[in-house]
Amino acid sequence: MFNKKVLFSMALSLFFIPKKNYCLNSIKDFNEKNHSNIEIIYDLQDKIYINKINESNRENEYKNKDNIIKTNNNQIETKMKKIISNPKMKTLVDNLKFENIIKSEKVYNAMLFTDRGDFCPSNWAYYDSPQSIDYNATISAPHMHAYALEYLKDYLKPGGRALDVGSGSGYLTLAFSRMMEDKGISVGIEHIHELYELGLKNISKHNQELIDEGKIVLLEGDGRYGYKDLAPYDCIHVGASADKIPEDLVEQLAKGGRLMIPVGGQMEAQYVYLIDKDLEGNVVYNKLLPVRYVPLTSKEKQLKYYSKGDF
Ligand code: SAH
Repeated sequence: MFNKKVLFSMALSLFFIPKKNYCLNSIKDFNEKNHSNIEIIYDLQDKIYINKINESNRENEYKNKDNIIKTNNNQIETKMKKIISNPKMKTLVDNLKFENIIKSEKVYNAMLFTDRGDFCPSNWAYYDSPQSIDYNATISAPHMHAYALEYLKDYLKPGGRALDVGSGSGYLTLAFSRMMEDKGISVGIEHIHELYELGLKNISKHNQELIDEGKIVLLEGDGRYGYKDLAPYDCIHVGASADKIPEDLVEQLAKGGRLMIPVGGQMEAQYVYLIDKDLEGNVVYNKLLPVRYVPLTSKEKQLKYYSKGDF
């Protein structure tokens, strides 16, 4: 049917298919082929995009939409969501979904698009365990992030306000913004200067614009007093265990809002409490899960026996 010349040129053209255009049927295909310098991007409908990245110039490559192809029909996609994930993060959230800890699509997407690899300094970012971020603090385990997002999901809506006390790595502060479709104000407050800077650095890796636009506000300060200037908050999350529930936080909670806080000292049982304020301003306390968190305390106490490299 084809003469030799045609067959030869067809064979030759195979070698010159541009390397950046990968066409894969599934994530499984991708994992099996194990390409090292490409990154998978999902949009909110879970369509798959493949992006070839250049490690030395990651940010530019990632913003360059011409490097993006749609895998299901191979068309160049011109409008992309600036959200990155990768197969390891997908596996992590798939496991949390399988274990029924992630129950909703909203939480699934918020976590998928908030890559723990950007927030965790160790090589264990995709393991379901807390990891040290130094200064006697940890980035919480992914299942704890998932629980928090599930319990707070109805309070995280576009146009809303959230406060993340003890923001540490910044993971939840960004995830809260994602839950509000990046159309709210997510405030993170952290009292250790270096961790406040770490949170800023981590969030700005891919989401500097949220900080510039005031959709994410990171603050250095004692979170036990909340942050009055942007109150009231539709939801408040506390990422460290308090001896007693700080009154300022209950006060800064909006009517119809929810505060999630672990309560209990380091030598005793700790429980997460959900504190709901109804539309009349009445407050209801619900004791939830037994947990283990680092203390919500003063800077001096937290750093008392700390020297870098500990933990
Ligand atoms: N959600 C964070 C949890 C970090 S661990 C994450 O997953 O990364 C708890 C954080 O609370 C630590 O960073 C600690 O420094 C901070 N913290 C403890 N007491 C605090 C206080 N009084 N005010 C602000 N931050 C506090």
